[in-house]
Amino acid sequence: HYNFCAGPAALPAAVLERARDEMLDYRGHGLSVMEMSHRAPEYVAIARQAEADLRELLAIPDHYRVLFTQGGATLQFAAVPYNLLGRGGRANFLHTGIWGSKAVAEARHLFGDAPVVASSEANGHSAVPRPDDIVLTEDAAYLHYTANETIGGLEFDFVPEAVRPDGGEVPLVCDMSSSILSGPLDVSKFGIIYAGAQKNIGPAGLVVVIVREDLLDRARPDMPSLFDYRALADAGSMINTPATYSWYLAGLVFQWLKHDIGGLAAMNAINDRKAAKLYAAIDSSELYANPIALRNRSRMNVPFVLADERLDKPFLAEADAAGLLNLKGHRSVGGMRASLYNAVPEAAVDALIAFMADFEQRRG
Ligand code: PLP
Repeated sequence: HYNFCAGPAALPAAVLERARDEMLDYRGHGLSVMEMSHRAPEYVAIARQAEADLRELLAIPDHYRVLFTQGGATLQFAAVPYNLLGRGGRANFLHTGIWGSKAVAEARHLFGDAPVVASSEANGHSAVPRPDDIVLTEDAAYLHYTANETIGGLEFDFVPEAVRPDGGEVPLVCDMSSSILSGPLDVSKFGIIYAGAQKNIGPAGLVVVIVREDLLDRARPDMPSLFDYRALADAGSMINTPATYSWYLAGLVFQWLKHDIGGLAAMNAINDRKAAKLYAAIDSSELYANPIALRNRSRMNVPFVLADERLDKPFLAEADAAGLLNLKGHRSVGGMRASLYNAVPEAAVDALIAFMADFEQRRG
């Protein structure tokens, strides 16, 4: 079976096997990682190794802190403004789809005003704004965007600049939930990167936040203490009990990326190939279509529609029977979506393409 789920997503088979082998008795310690105290030296070693491996994979500079926290990416929609609006100003947003709009809504819910300074609404979220379209407000405290819109299948092909009209640079904040670790990244361009784990990092229950050290002290005083990046950083992400097992599994995924894949440049090449061949199959068919501008087509989430909606149900039923799971599009947009996260092997994409061609020949 191949799992094309958008999230929680497939995990690498090698990681699941390793976790199975270690589940009851972690390396001779006589207990499961799930049963360990988060303060036990064995567990602290697991947690620290995971951070070290993530730092190595993404080449995270020393003046960034890495937090392993909880509440999903959705909680970061609130935590980010709480942590960055302590000195006034307003959050500025780029709006390129559903997740970005949820981040805007949360900032407005909490702090009233949060201008969208560039949007792809006018083109139906089929192409991201160009660099020249992005003009921040004079009072911008930071600029937030969503690197990859998981539902629309729209991905930025550049890193925006977060500069106010007066030339002042402000922190760039990015929701990378569905694209982190898909390839190399220049972390130094960002103030804050956050990502829910359940796509390319590990199981749900964990959120990774990468935050530049100078941003740890801009928080509003009135926020819940578990939101507080400074407090989380000082406590090694252990203010309270962290999502210990998810953190451990994320560590296994980082090891897999390092040792089995060979790092993020290698992962990037595989992801390029997977996405290119699926889009090529869609573009060369009469039955399938994807509306996104070529340069903004997501590598991780490939939505497509069938020319005749009545074929949706048989397509999904037959795909399922062929072991190609979770291809149904998000309920808000319909159609199909194949998520090609890191753990989806190239063979899965080949099998999907063969199935699609066969289906088109028989039913198209
Ligand atoms: N942001 C993006 C880009 C996502 O894809 C998702 C979830 O699918 C979220 C945010 C919300 O994540 P969570 O469910 O962890 O709150």
